[in-house]
Amino acid sequence: MILATRNPHKLLEFRRVVGEQRLTALPEAVELGPETGETFAANALDKARTAAAATGLVAIADDSGIAAAALDGAPGVLSARFAGERASDQENLELLISRVPAGSRLSYVCALAYVDPQTGEERLFEGRCEGRMAAAPRGSGGFGYDPVFVPDAADGRTMAELEPAQKDAISHRGAAIRALAAWLAAGRP
Ligand code: IMP
Repeated sequence: MILATRNPHKLLEFRRVVGEQRLTALPEAVELGPETGETFAANALDKARTAAAATGLVAIADDSGIAAAALDGAPGVLSARFAGERASDQENLELLISRVPAGSRLSYVCALAYVDPQTGEERLFEGRCEGRMAAAPRGSGGFGYDPVFVPDAADGRTMAELEPAQKDAISHRGAAIRALAAWLAAGRP
């Protein structure tokens, strides 16, 4: 399968959960285009369809982000562009810190699309991870908003302080990937 992403952190996380040999990186020549969908699912499907059509191979893609209760669910699908079109992870993180009070609710959401260009089959899987805003950024693991995301399912550490396998076990992306893997293992019922 092709993983339709240009985010090296995501490729790493997917490979950790489904296995190195099952996933091929997106060929350089394939253009994914801008993300214009209003939902995570629409964006994920768009990326997977583009990669599948360009390569003729089964493609999967995720679209993910963070929703802050204090911002009525923002930045949501705009998570990668929260501080502007070309914003870095650090700029997006700093904006979240300036707008969201410590202790308020956060959710990570991941939509994962599967597209088979030979059969036309399309599937969507979703994973969520609930947590709250840290008082200050902590940790150097993960990426993006991980230094301020304190998952309910952990022991008070931020996502960026967890070991990679601990993040995978509770993360939105880990949950979505496991749902896809279970469906594949069951012979695509
Ligand atoms: P996209 O799915 O490529 O549109 O980008 C998702 C954006 O959401 C990333 O750039 C991060 O800012 C944020 N995000 C998604 N998943 C995670 C995660 O696991 N940790 C931290 N930030 C994340």
